[in-house]
Amino acid sequence: MCELRELDDAGDGIDGAESATYPLTATTLPGGDGVAANRRLIHDMLIRNFIFWLSSKRGVTNAIARRGMKYGFARRFVAGETLAEALAASDELCRAGRHVSLNHLGENVSTEAAAREVCAGYLEMTEQMHAKNLAGNISIKLTQLGLDLGKDLCGALTLSIAKRAAELGRTIEMDMEGSVYTDATLDIFESVQRETGNCGLAIQAYLHRTEKDIQRLAPLRPKIRLVKGAYREPANIAVQGKPAVDANYRKLTTMLLEGATRGLYFPAIASHDPFMVAHAQSEAARLGLPKDKYELQMIYGIRRDLQQQARDAGNILQVYVPFGTDWCPYFMRRLSERPANCWFVLRSLVAESSS
Ligand SMILES: Cc1cc2nc3c(=O)[nH]c(=O)nc-3n(C[C@H](O)[C@H](O)[C@H](O)COP(=O)(O)OP(=O)(O)OC[C@H]3O[C@@H](n4cnc5c(N)ncnc54)[C@H](O)[C@@H]3O)c2cc1C
Repeated sequence: MCELRELDDAGDGIDGAESATYPLTATTLPGGDGVAANRRLIHDMLIRNFIFWLSSKRGVTNAIARRGMKYGFARRFVAGETLAEALAASDELCRAGRHVSLNHLGENVSTEAAAREVCAGYLEMTEQMHAKNLAGNISIKLTQLGLDLGKDLCGALTLSIAKRAAELGRTIEMDMEGSVYTDATLDIFESVQRETGNCGLAIQAYLHRTEKDIQRLAPLRPKIRLVKGAYREPANIAVQGKPAVDANYRKLTTMLLEGATRGLYFPAIASHDPFMVAHAQSEAARLGLPKDKYELQMIYGIRRDLQQQARDAGNILQVYVPFGTDWCPYFMRRLSERPANCWFVLRSLVAESSS
């Protein structure tokens, strides 16, 4: 951990050494003049593609997987490989006034036995969080609960988790995955939420359909986690490019916050983008929405400076805490989101190999 702090102080950018200089107003544009901003976008895109390419090379991912936890650099974004480690990290966050959402890393399963095993793991996470009195919930992925094998199986397993959480007076959240799963995820969410009333759902601002989906969900009074969207989707399904996604994100943020003033949603604004966070805060203030009627969400280890600012501003902050042995693809995604994160890993590796 000491080493991480040292790198933070050196300004690796992970905690926003560069963007922390932006004033937190929704109207300020990053990147200086247009040419410089374009150059930066192209540069970031090339690095992103390079990391995607690297993440398909078994040799590279195996090397990272072997060293990541041992040398500690993966711990910046992953709370550990075991539930016990994730609970310890969550306990620390809760003591610092955050809520947590525990996420067991992994995606599609191909057998019913594997889906049931994942389900048992989610139930155990809920029981343990409850026993330790941790504020927050668990986030589940429906493809881990057998969505590829059928909606009935997946729906039944999801319902069993939501029911147990409800018995304990707790909630669950559902991640949103690639667009081939959007319809099925919404259907399962609706039927489970109708029965238990304790579910939240991630909704992706980049999808053309999202505004309608948000309207469709209003009768269920759900918690909606608004994210930009993490998958590669074609232009007929999702808006393309950061400016367009950001514009949609702002619009949907306002829509959710307005809905919250009428008791329709509990909006969870999930972004590390200071402009999106500032937009949510200023819109909530404009609408007179109290700070306990919406929340901000960010991911473990990312933009901890912004996380602290959110707490200092009196916002509820929920931190998404991923853990598990299958952490390497998740870790590579976090690297590709921000080139500065690569420097952080390289410097950790160099420091370790020379010591
Ligand atoms: C709590 C939470 C849950 C999520 N759940 C889902 C889900 O269920 N389904 C889904 O499709 N997506 C999910 N996502 C991911 C989301 O869709 C985006 O891909 C991701 O959050 C990047 O978008 P952004 O708004 O944070 O920032 P971007 O628009 O990518 O970047 C804007 C700024 O944010 C900061 N930033 C962003 N990423 C990083 C990073 N890795 N390291 C350092 N700084 C960074 C930088 O300052 C950057 O300039 C989730 C995100 C969060 C925060």
